[in-house]
Amino acid sequence: MTLLLGVDNGGTRVKLLLARDAGGRLEHVRTADAPTPRGIGAMDELAAITRGFLGDDRADAFGITVAGIFDEASGAVVTSANMRWLEGLAPARELSDRLGIPGVVVQDGVATAIAEAVLGAGRGADDVFVLALGTGIAGAHVVDGAVRKGAHGGAGEIGHIATGRGEKCTCGQSGCLESLLGGTRLGARWDRARGVHAQSTAVDVVHGAERGDESARAVLDEATSALANGLLSVMAMIDPGVIVIGGGLSNSPEWIIDPAVDKARRQATFHAIPPIVRAELGSWAGAWGAVLAAEQRVGDALRLEHT
Ligand SMILES: [Zn+2]
Repeated sequence: MTLLLGVDNGGTRVKLLLARDAGGRLEHVRTADAPTPRGIGAMDELAAITRGFLGDDRADAFGITVAGIFDEASGAVVTSANMRWLEGLAPARELSDRLGIPGVVVQDGVATAIAEAVLGAGRGADDVFVLALGTGIAGAHVVDGAVRKGAHGGAGEIGHIATGRGEKCTCGQSGCLESLLGGTRLGARWDRARGVHAQSTAVDVVHGAERGDESARAVLDEATSALANGLLSVMAMIDPGVIVIGGGLSNSPEWIIDPAVDKARRQATFHAIPPIVRAELGSWAGAWGAVLAAEQRVGDALRLEHT
């Protein structure tokens, strides 16, 4: 029996998930989470947490997520905005040396997208587009369980496709989807519409809309029109079998997803409209993605042994 460990090393919590490969099907064994170890000694502390979690079980391989950019060849973290102590370290090798288990590193957004596509809301389809609506807007095209990264590693940047509106984006362009729909931008746009300095969040805007605030509804209306255009662009470009929408903003489907999907349906002409569904794995998607990376690591090792 193969035991696989997923370590989702997030900015505030580290989530651990042990799964069993039961004849090609992954089964949950147990989960735990703890505050993310920080600074010098973080890897020693992470190894101690992991040892405690595993107890007498021996995992065959682990996957660990990185919130940032890592070098594909060495596995070393190049930049991590919220976890600077990881920069220059190769987290999979560091943990592997301490635990005596082979491991592999996977970018957190990639892990989340693959998990949703393979085990979550996209399961059963071999061509899935996963959208994450959070502070920023991220996308990933998952084909046969792997993210299509593009020739330069920059594919899937749906947050930075033009929507035709003139709003300035953090990326330097104007009119990106993220500039209208990104979590912090929604709040800022509502504050500006009302002429207040309240540092409102996306949740505040949704609550405002629920109370009948016209300006909140107008801001959301613009955002969902932009999302509808984004969805139609995805259909036109890659014609996915399923579109999965996750991230914090997906928790208010009646104000974000449902209106955007309705608008996309009304505007569609030649487009093949696939099922558009909410993500299912929630905050454990990253850990499941790490388990899938570990599974692939075991598979690769077995293939090497047999060649
Ligand atoms: Zn942009």
